Amino acid sequence: MAGIYVHIPFCKSKCSYCDFTSFPDKLCYAESYMACVYREMSFRCKELKDYNFDTLYIGGGTPSVIDESYIGMLVASARKNFNLSKSAEITIEINPGTVTRDKIDFYKKCGINRFSVGLQSAIDSQLEDIGRIHTAKDFADCAALLKGENFNADVMIGLKGQKAEDVIYTIDFAVKAGASHISMYALTPEDGTPIYTDYLNGELPDGDEVAALYDAGYKHLKELGFIRYEVSNFCRRGKESRHNLNYWHRGEYIGFGVSASSCINNVRFTNTFDLDEYFKCIFTEHLPVITSEEIDKEGQKFEFIMLALRTAEGLDAFEYKKLFGSDFLEEHKNALKKVARYLDIDGDSVKIKDEYLFVQNSIIIEFLES
Ligand code: SF4
Repeated sequence: MAGIYVHIPFCKSKCSYCDFTSFPDKLCYAESYMACVYREMSFRCKELKDYNFDTLYIGGGTPSVIDESYIGMLVASARKNFNLSKSAEITIEINPGTVTRDKIDFYKKCGINRFSVGLQSAIDSQLEDIGRIHTAKDFADCAALLKGENFNADVMIGLKGQKAEDVIYTIDFAVKAGASHISMYALTPEDGTPIYTDYLNGELPDGDEVAALYDAGYKHLKELGFIRYEVSNFCRRGKESRHNLNYWHRGEYIGFGVSASSCINNVRFTNTFDLDEYFKCIFTEHLPVITSEEIDKEGQKFEFIMLALRTAEGLDAFEYKKLFGSDFLEEHKNALKKVARYLDIDGDSVKIKDEYLFVQNSIIIEFLES
């Protein structure tokens, strides 16, 4: 099974930490853009005719900012061009303040069965600090529209002046409003974003403080009955995101739209980040791909290790042998020895211990160097 990703790069305004491909002043191009996305899908349908897709993820940007009829046509286009299973998980990212009862009803009629809402914080001053346009009340209103639906809330840690009790308050706010899934990510101040200046001025929490915020959030989510299935993702049992699990299992995926990336048959390719260039390619019947790289066996192995060790289920050495024909425990015995105290190894199963999962990067790097 494989996944489909579609990037909708329009937003109402630019958040101060955002370095995603999103254009706050180009909403007027939405109609032409979506027509190009449907066209791009048709370019790929022959080559992917033998693939079975189990997930469709509509991300951005803010997909909920465009007219819902375009989303309806997008789902129809995905179904027309590809084998998208009847029971596919179809997710749309939405921002509080951009949806109405009619919009949500329309999404559901189109087959959308999972929603991902950008909450980030339930404290208005923190939302304002990072340039979000919504308030905590907007989120509560949006959650009321999603009552009974399967929805995720994004929670951000590492905000200016954020305390452990703020993270707990935000999680409580989201879960009480009905979220069955929480993605808890640390703010990463990228060079070139306005918030980078705060980082340089030392106004943001440092690494140890962020780790403490994460621990507080994780502990609270556990108390609420959520399981952690990946370092940043928590849910009620059975509510895991199938689309993201496919990434972490190194499954194949195809991306459409500006900046979308794909990995098919061990070739990773990425579309142009430039909106004009994207239009030009589609109008002239060219694929908008700007980089393409074949992943060799060593690369595949490292990706498999890196992605598997991010998850709570960890790495399955039996699966590794099936895929690559070699013994993971033997091949990486030096690295395993070096980081043994951070791992739980039981037969073919290798996991990072619960308490070290947040710092998995520094552990995983040993496998790259071994
Ligand atoms: S809503 Fe998301 S994509 Fe849009 S500017 Fe904010 S962070 Fe970026």
